[in-house]
Amino acid sequence: MNAHSHAPIAAAGAAPLVDPFGRAVSYVRVSVTDRCDFRCVYCMSEHMTFLPRKDLLTLEELDRLCSAFIARGTKKLRITGGEPLVRHDLMTLFKSLSRRLAAGSLEELTLTTNGSQLARFAEQLVDCGVKRVNVSLDTLQSDRFRSLTRTGDLARVLAGLDAALAAGLKVKLNAVALKGVNEDEFVPLVRFAHDRGMDMTFIEVMPLGELDGPARVDQYLPMSEVRARLSDAFTLDEIDYRTGGPARYMQAAETGGRIGFITPMTHNFCESCNRVRVTCTGTLYMCLGQEDAADLRAPLRESADDALLHAAIEAAIRRKPKGHDFIIDRARDAPAVARHMSTTGG
Ligand code: SAM
Ligand code: SF4
Repeated sequence: MNAHSHAPIAAAGAAPLVDPFGRAVSYVRVSVTDRCDFRCVYCMSEHMTFLPRKDLLTLEELDRLCSAFIARGTKKLRITGGEPLVRHDLMTLFKSLSRRLAAGSLEELTLTTNGSQLARFAEQLVDCGVKRVNVSLDTLQSDRFRSLTRTGDLARVLAGLDAALAAGLKVKLNAVALKGVNEDEFVPLVRFAHDRGMDMTFIEVMPLGELDGPARVDQYLPMSEVRARLSDAFTLDEIDYRTGGPARYMQAAETGGRIGFITPMTHNFCESCNRVRVTCTGTLYMCLGQEDAADLRAPLRESADDALLHAAIEAAIRRKPKGHDFIIDRARDAPAVARHMSTTGG
């Protein structure tokens, strides 16, 4: 236990959250729904059972929860899901959080989206102080897009991207690197992104949640192979650029654009971890790759006062583990953790 863990709750309201390894928690990812209009093969089963609505935090509860973290030093909030933009009336939450941006207590409010609803919401997001969004896009081929997402329409996502750029949002594209699926598109994806002034990031597929699609081991492609493929087309220079997330960036000399690599499998990035995740039911996960969690919904619902909530958050951060270790191999094709990425929030 550290000295901080003995701070009384009342006085703790303003104390920053520091874990037992000295890492300050300054970045919270909040999932606002487990629902999605897509069923990406690496993320969800074709037939998902979604949570009953009463289990979800209300928008007011989400606002209280985010505000509690902001009061304790959270500077960056990422709204995610499921698909965050399918949550009814989500802009109400963005509007209330935008007040914290205006007050300076929050530095960045952002979201991760599949882009399907961006054409409708891009301008409203900008009005709420959102400056950057991450859009997931694994392929530029419509048929492939449909089979990867099972239900998605590429044209809609591309229209969403256009709307986001036109509204002045900085867009980062994320693609999961999938063996035998989109490995021939790494170079075209980079060109597409850089032509439009967007960063392009590749992510290793992680063993999260049981799927009824292909086995993980058949999808997994290490980032070293992604880089090797990109090196055939681009001169990749190391750069120092960081966004506060786990991506490591390189610059393509030919385009001047950035390419990010997220390697949860081959190199975990736990030593500099500054983040926690909260699910749409108010479960706080201190680590993406570990089962330990804390329920924040009960303290939220038990009293209108935030003292119980702060106490629950503090107790959880005191248990934040040192790190995770994912393994995908033939001997062990079971997920490292049973919950899907759409539950924890990507
Ligand atoms: N629906 C939004 C989207 O797709 O951007 C936000 C939630 S989604 C769960 C967040 C990110 O997680 C997406 O970029 C998605 O590609 C990624 N993801 C989902 N399952 C994954 C897995 N098993 N391994 C690696 N990334 C995964
Ligand atoms: Fe939906 Fe995002 Fe998961 Fe795809 S990755 S199924 S878009 S939550």
